[in-house]
Amino acid sequence: MLGECHAHIIMDGKNYKAAVALHKDGVKDQVIRAHFQTWKDKGITFVRDGGDALGVSRRAKDLASEYGIDYRTPSFAIHKKGHYGGIVGHAFSDWKEYHSLVCRAKKEGADFIKIMISGIMEFGTFGMLTEEGLAEHEIRRMIHIAHEEGMTVMAHGNGDKTVRMAVEAGLDTLEHGNYLEQETLDLLAKSRTIWIPTLAPVGNLLGCGRFPDEQIKQILKRQMDSVRYAFTKGAWIGLGSDSGAYQVSHGQGLLEEYQWMKEAVGEEQEAALRECLSKAEERIKKEMKQ
Ligand SMILES: [Zn+2]
Repeated sequence: MLGECHAHIIMDGKNYKAAVALHKDGVKDQVIRAHFQTWKDKGITFVRDGGDALGVSRRAKDLASEYGIDYRTPSFAIHKKGHYGGIVGHAFSDWKEYHSLVCRAKKEGADFIKIMISGIMEFGTFGMLTEEGLAEHEIRRMIHIAHEEGMTVMAHGNGDKTVRMAVEAGLDTLEHGNYLEQETLDLLAKSRTIWIPTLAPVGNLLGCGRFPDEQIKQILKRQMDSVRYAFTKGAWIGLGSDSGAYQVSHGQGLLEEYQWMKEAVGEEQEAALRECLSKAEERIKKEMKQ
């Protein structure tokens, strides 16, 4: 069974606010345990989290082995003050603060550093993100400082320009990466950056009624086309469902992500796809551990 390379144990795939509120007065072990049990029941033995601001994923790391799960976490994600990322981590407003957050994550036992470099998808409008990405010098510096501290970097990034700059700066794993152009996909394919395209948080919205299906279909198709192209070019692509996100449940979400990926590259490519995904997972296991 392939592992889950992008999950959020603090969320439940249904109601983000309610899920987070459960841990407001201290982390609730029984909530974490229930999610681990779900993964275990599905035979999932590797989970990489995206972090959170309440210490839930940090606590989860202590419990994972009871379920036979190799669980990795950045502890919390790091974002630039005033930009997207507050729900999963802490903010910095200057480089001294950024550096001390990297050191804090290390001290908390983070396996890697998670950074936020762009906005999220506007699911109601194809082609639109909630905000512009960070500037090139900022992205470079964030990755550089983490590397200097001996940590690999997982980045939440959407939008062609933002992602291109991050790949050029030596990013380790790219999460989401929606709306990439061919040139960036070529660059990605030649790089060592592992791409986790997270199709489930888009595809699973179809028919849910929260957003117009017409827009969701376009967003999904755009990303699937990019996945197929990058796959044929030999890019490092990994499997991560963003489970915990709306409509993506833990465990089942990974199976759905795999189905979407298969649909993207073509059923006849399944053997090659599995090989590609498991190679990326092996590299993540090896490289993303403090
Ligand atoms: Zn995520």
